Amino acid sequence: MDQDYYEVLGVSRQATEQEIKKAYRKKAVQYHPDKNPGDKTAEEKFKAAAEAYSVLSDREKRDVYDRYGHQGLKAQGQGGFSGFNSDIFGGFEDILGDFFGFGRGRGRRGPRPRQGRSLEQLVELTFMEAYEGVTKEIKVRKMENCDVCDGSGLRAGASMKNCTTCNGQGQVIMSAGILQVSQPCPACGGQGRMVSPQDRCRQCYGQGKMERSSTVKVPINSGVDTGMRMRVSGKGEPGENGGPPGDLYLAIKVLPHEHFDRQGDDLHAQVAVSFSQAALGTTLEIPTLQSQEKIKVPEGTQSGSTFTLRRCGFSIVGRPNSYGDLIVKVVVRTPVRLNREERELLEKLDEIQKKKGNNQGKSIFQKVKDFFQHH
Ligand SMILES: [Zn+2]
Ligand SMILES: [Zn+2]
Repeated sequence: MDQDYYEVLGVSRQATEQEIKKAYRKKAVQYHPDKNPGDKTAEEKFKAAAEAYSVLSDREKRDVYDRYGHQGLKAQGQGGFSGFNSDIFGGFEDILGDFFGFGRGRGRRGPRPRQGRSLEQLVELTFMEAYEGVTKEIKVRKMENCDVCDGSGLRAGASMKNCTTCNGQGQVIMSAGILQVSQPCPACGGQGRMVSPQDRCRQCYGQGKMERSSTVKVPINSGVDTGMRMRVSGKGEPGENGGPPGDLYLAIKVLPHEHFDRQGDDLHAQVAVSFSQAALGTTLEIPTLQSQEKIKVPEGTQSGSTFTLRRCGFSIVGRPNSYGDLIVKVVVRTPVRLNREERELLEKLDEIQKKKGNNQGKSIFQKVKDFFQHH
C-alpha cells in the first residue's frame, strides 16, 4: 500500500516547506539505520520518510501528488522509492550534512547538480490534426542561460569571489537542538563563491539567466485526445550546476468537429433522411475523415437506427493504422411546408393505410383501448 506522504511525515497538507523539512529531519534522525542497527521497522520508516520528503520538498512533485496522489506520480514515472534513489540521499545529505558521516572524506562538497524546472503548456489541436498527427511548433517562455555571460552572471573579464557569508565554505552550521547541522549556504546556494555587485553581467544583472521565448518543434502522435499529457524530455528550463534540464509537459486540447462527435476511438454522426427515403430505402453517401463511404438504408428504416462503418472512426493513439468505428445515426425528417401535390399524396397514403387496417393506422389511444379490451 502507498502511504500518504503527509501522514508519513506527520504534517498537515498545508505544511510549509520549512515545516516539511523540519518534520523530515526529525524522522530521519529518529529512524536512521546507524542508530537502529538491525531494526527492519526503523529502516522502513527511514525510507518512507525519505521518499515522502523527496516528493513534498519538490514544488512540482508535491503539486502533482496533491492533485493526483500516488497515481499521478506513477503516471509521470516518478512513483515509488526506486525513482528517487539519487535524490533521496542527496536530499538527506543536504539536510543532515556531515552529522551521520555522509560525504565524509570527500572534502568540501561542491554545489549539487539540480534538474531544471519542468514546464507545462496547453496545446490546441484541430480535430484533423489530432486524427492525422502533426508536428507543432510550440512557443514556450522559459528561463535560459544568459547569452552575454553564458550563465555565469559575470561581466566580461570579471571572476567569482569567495562568498562573504560562508567564507567560501559553501556550508553554514545550524544548531538544531543537540544536533549541529551543516546546510548549504543560503547566500551563495552552496557554491562558496559569488558574483560581487560590481562584477555583475549587465544583461542579466548577475542572475546568469533570463526569460526567453523559444520555439520547440514537437511531433504529436495521431489519435491524441483532450486531457492527455505529453512529456517532451529535456525541453524545460536548464539545470543548475551541471544538472539535467527539466521537461516540457504538453496538455492536449482537441477542438470539436462540426459533424463528428468523438467518443474514445469511435466517431458518431447523424444523417437526416426524408420520410419517403426511410420508408422506401435508399443509399447514403457518408463523408468520413478519410474518404466517402456508402450506407445502404433498407426500406422501413426507423428514425434513430444506427449503422456502423468499421475502421472509419478516429485513429487509435500509439497503434498506427488502427481506427475506431464510425456510427451513423439516421434521423427521419418529417416533411414540413407541404405543397398541394405533396399534401394530396400524403392524404392518399393515409387513406390507404387506414384501409389496410393494420396497427400503423391506429392512434396510440386506439392501441391502448384495444389492449385493455383483449386482456
Ligand atoms: Zn548575463
Ligand atoms: Zn556562501
